[in-house]
Amino acid sequence: MANQKSIIIIGAGMSGLSAGCYAQMNGFDSMIFEMGDHAGGVCTSWKRGDYNINGSMHWLVGSAPNVKMHQMWLELGAIQDKMLVNHDIFLTLKNVAGQEFKFYTNLFQLEKYIHEIAPEDKEEIDDFIKAIKVFIEYDLPTEKAQELFGLFDGLKLIFTEFPMLMEAMKWSKITIAEFAAKLKSPLLQKAFLSFWHPEMSMTTIIVTLAWMHKRTAGYPMGGSGAFIESVEERYKHLGGNIAYHSKVEKIITYDDTAVGVQLTNGRQYFADYIISAADGYNTIFKMLGGKYIDENITKIYQTFKPFPSIFFIALGIDESFEELESTVVGYNLPMKQPLKIGNTVHERATVQIYNFDPTLAPEGKTLMTCFLSTDYQFWHSLYQNKALYEAEKDRIINDFIHNLLAHFPHISDKIEMQDCATPMTYNNYTGNYQGSYEGWLPTPEASKIHIKKTLPNLHHFFMIGHWVETGGGLPPAAMSGRNVVQLICHQEGRKFKSYISSVEAVMI
Ligand SMILES: Cc1cc2nc3c(=O)[nH]c(=O)nc-3n(C[C@H](O)[C@H](O)[C@H](O)COP(=O)(O)OP(=O)(O)OC[C@H]3O[C@@H](n4cnc5c(N)ncnc54)[C@H](O)[C@@H]3O)c2cc1C
Repeated sequence: MANQKSIIIIGAGMSGLSAGCYAQMNGFDSMIFEMGDHAGGVCTSWKRGDYNINGSMHWLVGSAPNVKMHQMWLELGAIQDKMLVNHDIFLTLKNVAGQEFKFYTNLFQLEKYIHEIAPEDKEEIDDFIKAIKVFIEYDLPTEKAQELFGLFDGLKLIFTEFPMLMEAMKWSKITIAEFAAKLKSPLLQKAFLSFWHPEMSMTTIIVTLAWMHKRTAGYPMGGSGAFIESVEERYKHLGGNIAYHSKVEKIITYDDTAVGVQLTNGRQYFADYIISAADGYNTIFKMLGGKYIDENITKIYQTFKPFPSIFFIALGIDESFEELESTVVGYNLPMKQPLKIGNTVHERATVQIYNFDPTLAPEGKTLMTCFLSTDYQFWHSLYQNKALYEAEKDRIINDFIHNLLAHFPHISDKIEMQDCATPMTYNNYTGNYQGSYEGWLPTPEASKIHIKKTLPNLHHFFMIGHWVETGGGLPPAAMSGRNVVQLICHQEGRKFKSYISSVEAVMI
């Protein structure tokens, strides 16, 4: 098309693919450069023998049409052909004394259950349940990028969503650890501490349970790989191009305007807009040489904590586990012998048992995964000595299996596949800062600072993905791609278009 404006996108993870789809829907000529050999970034699956290892997806917010976010997944072609599973339990915790705690996904069931188990914590729990109920009632507007909000949009948001905004403000100041410390029941305390990283703000648990209750955070059957393949297909169907094995080493600027990229093979490509969907640190400090920063960016990169890197274990087991209740994230189990991973010692581990997804294992068999946080520096140093690195991976998998057999003794001779990923795997395959698996941790401090999708004094350049959306996850990553194309349309004086198929067009 003559005079068609062009966009280069760096990275074919969730956010890059999303930006690509919306760029194509809006008549831009887009090209994604991806350093790896496939799309997805951290949202990926890989084959080991007859098993299909799900590396990311546990729940997808917006899986049902009762929240506005759902529209985006339809536009991205992500879920139309997927069977979605909504579990009744988020997490089942077992302690050494054999007691059990279940985070039910139905709020009324959870409320009754917690009151029965821990009547001594009624006051705190009532407050917590009340907040979830408020989040169930409301839904954030996602149709329009907040950067384009005018006074009217802002006032409308405050007017219509006031109770939710108040609860969000209150709970974003409290960490999971601080809330757990107020609880008297040791079992309940342990359950909250095992829900997610304890430094995260309580809002993360509250909104997650609200979505779970609404049954709009389902698991798309097939896991990460099948999910991403659908979005990649949608992008290609819209006319987009992806160049694999194409690592960008430099963003070319001219007169403080981003005009192109240079790959590691020296080739240069030029476009009207450049969007980086790659790691934030590499984008700002390496590809752009640290030239476009301000106090806010410096503060973020010096003080924010990333989600830690992880040691990911996958086992293929010749056992159906059909008697076990399925859960969103798994079974949180005590380790008989604490598991040392790098400099982190784990007393407990959450094990996901995919007895609900037959696409991940041959019939009658099950994929089991577990990921545990660890420190990047340990693995970075160890990686210099390949023999020691490989030996440590084996040692950890063996120690993990030893612990697992204490809970499932009948599988001792049924483990037929084992695999792992270390922080170096995440670093090498996705370029994420310190091997992080999900961008910035949503701590109370981080929740106070809004991260811009532009850089100071640099024109025609945007950043998307989990390094500009604190808390990360697939919905914010995809939404940031959508929002940035709205911003570009705005700059170009175009009306933003999005549609589910070529015949159905939704205009904002
Ligand atoms: C174990 C695990 C469980 C998770 N569970 C969930 C869940 O249940 N629900 C949920 O919503 N989210 C979950 N997440 C988080 C979610 O997967 C991520 O937040 C999201 O996929 C991030 O997408 P992104 O596009 O921002 O970044 P990335 O996935 O990191 O994509 C960046 C892409 O850029 C490429 N790239 C980097 N540098 C360059 C370069 N120089 N040149 C070219 N290409 C480059 C990378 O190869 C990569 O493909 C989970 C993540 C993990 C690891």
